[in-house]
Amino acid sequence: MENKNILLKALPKVDECIALLKNDSSVDAPSSIIKSVVQHAIDLQREKILNGEAEREELTMQQWMSMFQEKIAKKLTPHFKRVVNGTGVVIHTNLGRSILSQKTTDSLVQAGGYYSNLEFNLESGKRGSRYSLVEDIICELTGAEAALVVNNNAAAVLIALDTLAKNKEVVVSRGQLVEIGGSFRIPDVMEKSGAVLREVGATNRTHLYDYERAINENTALLLRVHTSNFRIIGFTSEVSAADMVKLARENNLTTMEDLGSGSLIDLSQFGFPKEPTVQEIVKAGVDVVTFSGDKLLGGPQAGVIVGKKSVIAAIKRNPLNRALRIDKFTLSSLESVLREYFDLSLALENIPTLAMLTISSELLKRRARKIKSRLEKSLADHCKIAIVPTVSRVGGGALPETGIDSWAVDLEPLKMKLSVFEKELRKLAIPIIGRIENERFLLDVRTVQDREIAALVTLLTDFFASSRADKGESDA
Ligand SMILES: *Cc1c(COP(=O)(O)O)cnc(C)c1O
Repeated sequence: MENKNILLKALPKVDECIALLKNDSSVDAPSSIIKSVVQHAIDLQREKILNGEAEREELTMQQWMSMFQEKIAKKLTPHFKRVVNGTGVVIHTNLGRSILSQKTTDSLVQAGGYYSNLEFNLESGKRGSRYSLVEDIICELTGAEAALVVNNNAAAVLIALDTLAKNKEVVVSRGQLVEIGGSFRIPDVMEKSGAVLREVGATNRTHLYDYERAINENTALLLRVHTSNFRIIGFTSEVSAADMVKLARENNLTTMEDLGSGSLIDLSQFGFPKEPTVQEIVKAGVDVVTFSGDKLLGGPQAGVIVGKKSVIAAIKRNPLNRALRIDKFTLSSLESVLREYFDLSLALENIPTLAMLTISSELLKRRARKIKSRLEKSLADHCKIAIVPTVSRVGGGALPETGIDSWAVDLEPLKMKLSVFEKELRKLAIPIIGRIENERFLLDVRTVQDREIAALVTLLTDFFASSRADKGESDA
């Protein structure tokens, strides 16, 4: 108890600390921040002392001050940060899925910094529809009669089911009841929409007669879901879109396909497994097709709904549409990305997601060499650097089992454990996210943009030159 009192008495005075920090010219922070940091840190220490958890030795005033300064600096740093993606996962949901080209990014600046014709018809001078800005382009690219865009593909599935199948039965193959990213489950979305799930077939095989038998007077919709993040291999069979459409027409039912990734380009020409394109599914006659904006399309987060005019019109009238509507940033960047698709060779070049997926191994190796040679100049004493072959992933639940041969820069810090190194790189001003694989730290250069290389080299050089690198050593 006596010890506690001594420690409590030794705590610095809040007002004194605040005054010192305010007079310190190296501290540039609003006084509200200084105040809350000091108050909070001292309160925390007081609590620790009372709980008997405090360290025996007291902090010196200098230590307190540097602790405050560190906390203030942290508080002034935005939480949202750009990072260097060295994981080789192109559509990395946790790192923001698709990134946008400079041109598309410029459209975001325009949309944010100026008034726009978001919902204003410049010809009539009257109110316009925000969707009209992209609908014709989507229809032209996909061959669909009509289109609508909502917040994401989960929202697209929700509003489509809510419109077309509320309190009615939806027939789905058991093999397609997927969960995506742990947060999107077709059965759960269906329940929220008020549709009743009617599973048919076995996990590995579903036949047309399974759908046929399930149809009754309460059936509204036949649904196919693209099993994008897993694959059942071996003895399998699924009913094709064309067969499903035929059956639906015979029974006066509507058809829907959740394509998930929804590519507008057949990537099998680049050695990827064949996946249906949006155009192919539309052409097969499916009434409603939904897909993400930020997966293989390479655009902003969005859920694109395309299909028959009457069906899309009904979805547009659903009051949920107002709740799920996209904002001007999504609209402007989506239009910009979609316009790239008018020239497919330019799309492959200008849409970063597509460019990263189709870049040649030769160019990747050259990029890896360039990073290695620049790093060698400054890191020679701290880190061994090598270039190694590795395997990238498409990610985003797209083309699941597909690995793509790639090249990585292998960094082996000489005075630090790999796990510590990996953690320290996540703390940099621009965090570097790599991959530890077989006890190696790898930066897969497929997902490192050429325009990031200079920053990457500077970040690593500064890191090894700083005391953090030594701190890492003592932590280990
Ligand atoms: C990714 C995916 C979704 C969810 O799309 P979001 O745009 O992330 O909402 C839904 N269905 C399928 C098949 C998917 O692959």
